[in-house]
Amino acid sequence: MMWHQRADVVVIGTGVAGLVAGLSAHRRGSKVLVLSKAADTATFYAQGGIAVVLPETDDSIDAHVADTIAAGAGLCDPDAVRSIVADGYRAVTELVDDGARFDEAEPGRWSLTREGGHSRRRIIHAGGDATGAEVQRALNHAAATLDIRRNHVALQILQTGGVVKGVVVLNEDGLGVVHVPSVVLATGGLGHLYSATTNPEGSTGDGVALAMWAGVPISDIEFVQFHPTMLFNGNTGGRRPLITEAVRGEGGVLVDRQGNSITAGVHPMGDLAPRDVVAAAIDARLRESGDPCAYLDARGITDFARRFPTVTAACLEAGIDPTRQPIPVVPGAHYSCGGVLADVHGRTDLPGLFAAGEVARTGMHGANRLASNSLLEGLVVGGRAGKAAARHAADAGPAHAEVGDVETRVALPRRKLQRAMSRYASVVRDADGLQRLTQELEAADPRDLDCRTSFEDVALTTTARAVSAAALTRTESRGCHHRSDFPDADPALAHSQVLAAACC
Ligand SMILES: Cc1cc2nc3c(=O)[nH]c(=O)nc-3n(C[C@H](O)[C@H](O)[C@H](O)COP(=O)(O)OP(=O)(O)OC[C@H]3O[C@@H](n4cnc5c(N)ncnc54)[C@H](O)[C@@H]3O)c2cc1C
Repeated sequence: MMWHQRADVVVIGTGVAGLVAGLSAHRRGSKVLVLSKAADTATFYAQGGIAVVLPETDDSIDAHVADTIAAGAGLCDPDAVRSIVADGYRAVTELVDDGARFDEAEPGRWSLTREGGHSRRRIIHAGGDATGAEVQRALNHAAATLDIRRNHVALQILQTGGVVKGVVVLNEDGLGVVHVPSVVLATGGLGHLYSATTNPEGSTGDGVALAMWAGVPISDIEFVQFHPTMLFNGNTGGRRPLITEAVRGEGGVLVDRQGNSITAGVHPMGDLAPRDVVAAAIDARLRESGDPCAYLDARGITDFARRFPTVTAACLEAGIDPTRQPIPVVPGAHYSCGGVLADVHGRTDLPGLFAAGEVARTGMHGANRLASNSLLEGLVVGGRAGKAAARHAADAGPAHAEVGDVETRVALPRRKLQRAMSRYASVVRDADGLQRLTQELEAADPRDLDCRTSFEDVALTTTARAVSAAALTRTESRGCHHRSDFPDADPALAHSQVLAAACC
């Protein structure tokens, strides 16, 4: 027997986008239910910080917009970028009102760092390199007023007559339905499409799959950002610690086993070039040399352990002392620049369905995200999506979903899928590999959606098909999508691809 619940707004996800959306809708009087399948979020692991233009500095909205658009390699929506960047300081101030505390250079003045692709020092951070933990702590505290249900997996968006009516959910009591007119997808990323990722276990592309099954278009999904410096500890599989870009911002140098610079002559910004450039340079050097990893030499940074406590702890756990030896690093799947097509208020093509945070494609990141722009986007668009969802719920009134059988879907075993994606759709791709990947993904078998793992395998398979289809069609190299068979950008392809559900 199915259980039933009612709400005005359901938010799926308890990271930065989900909690800010939930708080925003709640503060506008909506009855909000926040669902989360896991305790872990990518938000918690964010290290470097939040990119924000502070008033009364040498920085400007124009400069931040220009840096963002430059990184996005021709695919950002300039209006979306400006709208989000310009609202950043207000959103950060609200987060501070909710209790977040950022590191200060002196009392009353935040300490600012610089990261790859930024022309100014504009990254605020907390606890040295533990920004995400502080953001999550503050939001968890503020969200104590919300009705949050953990271990609830959202399986399907229900609609009637082209408008949202509910969500099918799996919890310890089995399958249930929340009848609701507004749903905010804040499900985060898709790093577990790959064997090695910086993302937590729950980043399995669920939101992209849920949207596609609901007939909502997705876009820019081929642009998976690989972080250049993930700690290499010899093991394979699962989440791996990240060595924040701020280490390079503070003077850490990327070298190969012989001590030669990896980015010299590759890009004028050297080790602080945009992530795709640095990741591709490392990938190329490792292919050439056959070495398993590159090295980040941070021995010249004074007071390293105090400035980077999270990195220090992760290194020490792996038996590496970053103050005495270079840190072994490899690129790892890190961030999805694309996702569910949404505007800067989180509105998708399906009335009542909103998307915010990493799952959404608002036009902010284009073909490549600029470092520390994602917490910013989550804060700004999360708040706006919560507001829009509350307004939609008030206009639409209570919903009643018609519940049929949960649809049968197909999945590839997870390790097999991750191996295929890592081999054929990673930092550098080509047509042969992507065609093989497509064939492997076609061999998926029907799965019952009777547990979280099965559902995630199905979501991963749907999302992998979308990534591989989009990567195959983009016959050029742009942003973080590198094709060895099409090494240059093609001006004729300087536009986003939109995928419909039928593709995958
Ligand atoms: C190691 C690391 C370091 C980073 N550093 C930075 C940084 O310094 N600055 C920056 O701006 N960005 C950084 N990022 C990126 C940034 O942290 C993420 O993009 C952002 O936090 C995503 O927030 P979110 O709210 O969209 O998703 P998340 O924080 O990942 O939250 C997703 C939520 O959705 C839930 N969920 C997913 N699917 C379902 C489902 N089917 N049913 C129910 N619940 C579901 C999950 O349980 C989780 O609660 C970093 C990311 C990582 C991994």
